[in-house]
Amino acid sequence: MIRKYILGWLLHLANRDVSIYSKEQFYTIKKNLLTKYGTKLGEEIQHIRKECHSCNSTGIFRCTWKQKETCWSCNGTGIYQEYWTRLDKYKLGNYTFHNPTKRQHEYEPLFEQIALPVITGYIHHKSPKYRLGAEAMYWLFLIYDRKHFKKIFGMIGYPGNVRTPMVFFANISFKCKHEWRIEKGFWTRKEEDLDIGDLPF
Ligand SMILES: [Zn+2]
Repeated sequence: MIRKYILGWLLHLANRDVSIYSKEQFYTIKKNLLTKYGTKLGEEIQHIRKECHSCNSTGIFRCTWKQKETCWSCNGTGIYQEYWTRLDKYKLGNYTFHNPTKRQHEYEPLFEQIALPVITGYIHHKSPKYRLGAEAMYWLFLIYDRKHFKKIFGMIGYPGNVRTPMVFFANISFKCKHEWRIEKGFWTRKEEDLDIGDLPF
């Protein structure tokens, strides 16, 4: 009981502040914990539709130096990307979570005896205060994926108001590595150039 409560709380916090280096590893842990300890509440569908920026969602590409033509990016549909993701909904501790199970690019009937509720667009998460999300993520990796924990600990720094032990020491580790890199002339801005991408659930 207490384990479920704590795991639910850690997952809830970490889910709101997943680092780009840890997305895959985090979602593996999340999936395992939810299937093992969570209570399945049902299924939902998440509908994502991205408008085409090349043609302003009109399907027709216009420019000054040639004739109008069907937009190549979206094949004239005006929609750059559209898909439906099936999500298993779980409760763990005091929180509910969504676990993606299948992505469909074609529209399929979203009925399975009963109509599945549809979530339109992304589920937006607000990062917890004091980098508590990062703190929770470190603890989850320490317990469930030691290898990844060693890899990411101190890999990035968390500026701002830090009040928790893991992030505090990770920041010190980051600072040492950072200074060492500058000294050796290895410092690059590579990390900041990485594509942050979308977190759809
Ligand atoms: Zn287009």
